[in-house]
Amino acid sequence: MCNDAIRIAIKSDPKNRFALIKLAYKSLKGYGLHSHYVLSACEVAFSAYKNKNRKGVPQIRSAFFKLDRQVYQLNHLLLRIPTTPRQFIFLVLDGSKYHLSFVNDPTLKTGPLTITEHHVSISFSKGVTRFEPEGFMGIDVNERNATVSSTNGHFRRFTELGEVVEIKERYREIRAKVARVTRQDKRIGKGLLAKYGRRERNRTVQRIHRVSKQIVDYAKEHKFGIIMEDLKGIRKHYRKGNKQGSQFKARMNTWVFGETQRQTDYKANWEGIPDWFVDPRGTSSKCPCGSRVVPLQDRKLYCPKCDRTWDRDDLASKNIMACAVPQARPFKRSDDGERGAGGSNPQSRWREG
Ligand SMILES: [Zn+2]
Repeated sequence: MCNDAIRIAIKSDPKNRFALIKLAYKSLKGYGLHSHYVLSACEVAFSAYKNKNRKGVPQIRSAFFKLDRQVYQLNHLLLRIPTTPRQFIFLVLDGSKYHLSFVNDPTLKTGPLTITEHHVSISFSKGVTRFEPEGFMGIDVNERNATVSSTNGHFRRFTELGEVVEIKERYREIRAKVARVTRQDKRIGKGLLAKYGRRERNRTVQRIHRVSKQIVDYAKEHKFGIIMEDLKGIRKHYRKGNKQGSQFKARMNTWVFGETQRQTDYKANWEGIPDWFVDPRGTSSKCPCGSRVVPLQDRKLYCPKCDRTWDRDDLASKNIMACAVPQARPFKRSDDGERGAGGSNPQSRWREG
């Protein structure tokens, strides 16, 4: 249905999804499904059509469907979805304690439902009020670890991120091997690759979840606001001199940074913890005293003025933290002078959740 609707969109260039629904309704209704599927297919098709890029004709490749809140019913773990008019399918969801904590929480609102080959996703929302932070913590994410420093003077290092990079590298080798061995039979190869892909994803995402959860729990406990680097135009791989250079590695690291920040951001939002994204420029080249640091061996840095040796990641996280503290040296940002988070944080900005 989505691909039919995309073809119709390409032919008629509708202005918005409602126009597409008008154009496609009759032909998509031919599938005999509940009308909501037509609306949902047009919505997905229109966004795919709108985001079409140089790769040519957009296409929805994996089987999935998406339904609005008013179309399905969820009663504890029993899910009722309509198929054709007045016909329903019932699914019993496989829910853990964690899932049940959402399903059975009457204060949460349920949102759209998505079903794919392997997953049922239900979105939940709630209204939160952001608290006024009593301190801040800065997070420096790099390819080996996430280093956190907070205004209470604590540093903490999460090394699971290094494992994530190793896992990703290992699975890349496995995938290359699978591709070689199953050259004769593409179908088996595809199944195996999908299986390893899922396994890799589970292992990596799980580790990142552990890191982001601990960061957010700490912030919640101490009422700290969270400050992270703005990764737009990421310069990390150039800044840290380790033996990379392959494009693959750069991409994989970007994924690890991005996923760590994404998880931290949404978990912070969920808990009402204020978070900011700041310009990372200079965070590992200057001492908090303002003077330039001199690089030593083993990722150590030395400030001649304070006669102090810093660990590179500690220093970066401390400087990132300082970006939101009013007395700190201002960090220049070119594009958001007006969008500060209010009184005490002129140099940083809220990330829209
Ligand atoms: Zn210094």
